[in-house]
Order: sequence, then C-alpha cells, then structure tokens
Amino acid sequence: MALIVHKYGGTSVGTVERIGRVADKIVAARENGDEIVVVVSAMSGETDRLTAMASEISDNPPAHDVDVLLSTGEQVTIALLAMALHERGCEARSYTGAQVPIRTDNTYSKARIREIGPERMRADLDAGRVVVVAGFQGVDDDGRITTLGRGGSDTTAVALAAALKADECHIYTDVDGVYTTDPRIEPKAKRLEKITFEEMLEMASLGSKVLQIRAVEFAGKYNVPLRVLSTFEDGPGTLITYEDGDVEEAVISGIALNKDEAQITVAGIPDKPGVAFRVLGPIADANIEVDVIVQNVSRDGSTDLTFTVHHRDYDQALALARKSGEELGAREVAGNTDIVKISIVGVGMHSHAGVASRMFEALSREGINILMISTSEIKVSVVVQARYMELGVRALHEAFGLDTGPVTPDEPESW
Ligand code: ASP
Ligand code: MG
Repeated sequence: MALIVHKYGGTSVGTVERIGRVADKIVAARENGDEIVVVVSAMSGETDRLTAMASEISDNPPAHDVDVLLSTGEQVTIALLAMALHERGCEARSYTGAQVPIRTDNTYSKARIREIGPERMRADLDAGRVVVVAGFQGVDDDGRITTLGRGGSDTTAVALAAALKADECHIYTDVDGVYTTDPRIEPKAKRLEKITFEEMLEMASLGSKVLQIRAVEFAGKYNVPLRVLSTFEDGPGTLITYEDGDVEEAVISGIALNKDEAQITVAGIPDKPGVAFRVLGPIADANIEVDVIVQNVSRDGSTDLTFTVHHRDYDQALALARKSGEELGAREVAGNTDIVKISIVGVGMHSHAGVASRMFEALSREGINILMISTSEIKVSVVVQARYMELGVRALHEAFGLDTGPVTPDEPESW
C-alpha cells in the first residue's frame, strides 16, 4: 500500500461537475489500495475574484484580512470534494490549513511553512479515510490565518508529502506533464518521462509555469518524488526526482524561454575598478534583480556594460543607469525591450564538452545573432532579438535531438 498525496489545481476543480470527476479518480485510487491525502486549490478564477473585491474596498487592505478572505476559496473546495466523496461511499474528512495544523510564520500573503502536525491526518488514514486539505493556507503563532503566495497549493502538497513521508506527490493539472519546450512554440515538443529537481527549477525559473518554484525547491530539499499528470486523461505524466545516473542521459532535457526581460547598455565608460559597481550598485539598492551581465573592453580603454532586468523594473533601472552613466561620462545609455532569453537546460551537459558550441552553431545556421551569453553548471542561456524567438527554439530543439528522442553522447557529431 502506497501513500500518495494528490494535488488538484483550480482548473481541475473549476466546476461542481469537475469536482465529481476528481472524486471518481480518488475513489479509483483507493480501490487500487493506495492511501490518499488530497490537496485542492480554489475553483479557477476564485482567488482573482476575491482579490478584486478586496481592491474595490481598499487600495491597501490589511494583509492578514486579505489572507482571511483568500483562504475561503480553498475552504469551499475541500467541503465540496468531501461531500462528493461521501456521496460515492468513500469516507473522507476535510481540513483547513489551521485544522491540520500547518504552522507558518506571519508574513501574510507569502507565509513560509514551519511545521506540520501529521497526527490527525495519520489517524484518519489509519481509519481508512481520505484526507482532504485546503491548499495555500496555514496558521501563525497567534492563530491567524496565513496564505503561502499565488500557486501555493503546490507547496502545501509537497510539504504534506514530506511530513507524512509519502511515497509520491502527484500534481494533477491541465497538461499531461513537463515538456521539452513550450508546445505552442514548437509543436514537436515531447513530454519528458523524467526530469531532475535541478532541471525543473531552471525550467520553472525560466518561465515554464507548470509548478510553483517554491514547491520544486521544497521537494528537492526533502527528496519528495513529484509527478505532474493530467486530471483529464490517463497517463504516466512526468516524474521529477533526483538524478539516478543509470538512465541513458540526454545532454539536454529542455529548452526554456523567458520573455520578461529587457536589456540595458551603458557604453563607453572608463575601464577601471569600481565601474561595474557604480552602475549596478544603485540598481541593487533599488531592489531590482539583474540577470545576465556582459562587460567588454574596447581598444581605446573604455568598456561597455550590458545587463538585463525584468520588464516591470525596466523604466526605473534605465533611469538609474542614465544617472550613473552621466556621472561616469558614458558615451551612451540605451535600452532594448525587444529581446528574449532562450536557455538550454540539462544535467547531462556537465559531462559533455561542446554543448555551448553546438548551441551557437545551430543559431548561426539560422542567421540568429546572439546579443548576450551566460552559463551555469546545467544551463546555457542566450539573449536574442525577440523576432527570433520561434526560430531559435525550434533550431535548438532539433539540434539537440529533442524532436526525435535524446542525442546520446556516443552519436557521431555531424554538426
Ligand atoms: N488559489 C491560489 C491561487 O490561485 C493557490 C493555488 O491555486 O495554488 O494562487
Ligand atoms: Mg493554481
């Protein structure tokens, strides 16, 4: 008998009829002999609806009241799902976060889980009941309701799986797994059987929105095997786990895309110590995160510094760069919002030389000019003009054999 935590997102419980279908799935899993703890989100659109009501009343509502409000979305779903299970002859008990209890700190609207008391859930499971828990919420030391940040039900599910030492945590959603890249951009994208926590974190932070990033971090930290599956069709989904070394590793697991960045260049500043700090220091002080950074020296002893920031910070970062550029006597300070960052991700790359050059060659064959490059252990990113987004992703998808199955390390390199 396996203990599995199931998590159903907002779309999966979006209507009363769909809640019934979720109940059918849980009954089937029970009949299969599994012990089940279910975490549910609010019905789709509900959290947004509640947020909109709050902002009609106040521009700045008290954070703990916002959390009391938002937590009601999930409370509706646990009650309806428990009823649907009861209706099917399946004994179930529903819990809000505070009832479990899921104890958190008191940073309302983005609280962190500190501790989970598994005893009540354990007793229900031992009595043969299904446990239904409201995602996205907890309780602080003062007994006040907290929420975990948008998408937080994923984190609830992983945390419960860790606390109960569950065998797997299943995240049921509207896609049937994690793909090699966005299928809307490359229709040949394939579902991955397996991906490591590290790779999934990179994919998620680079814009692949299947899972909340914090949930993936949590799962990696506590070694909870995660599986992303479709609520609406049967299938094995994608397993997210540790690298086990015995599978035939693909060099690259996926291609991620980030359309949220903009580029700023401070050109013709003196090439001497402290200059990068003079430009980037005020930006960091304004709490603006800088992603890719490139600095190059020209022959006349001056240097150009180029970096990227999130679109939402662009205007402020450009103003700050203009100011420090002026102080440093820069020749020009320019911005470009028309860029995308394309990244290849794979734990397989740290054992294979030439991954970056294979990437650059594939892009050059398509005549795509690379504006910036950055690398890490398991990722190579390039910044290119936005109009090359689709072409670039497709060229890389093919070059790394993701269209047809993995390129094995031994395959003769014909590139
Ligand atoms: N209902 C919350 C949200 O929409 C939490 C979740 O769905 O995971 O962000
Ligand atoms: Mg959600």
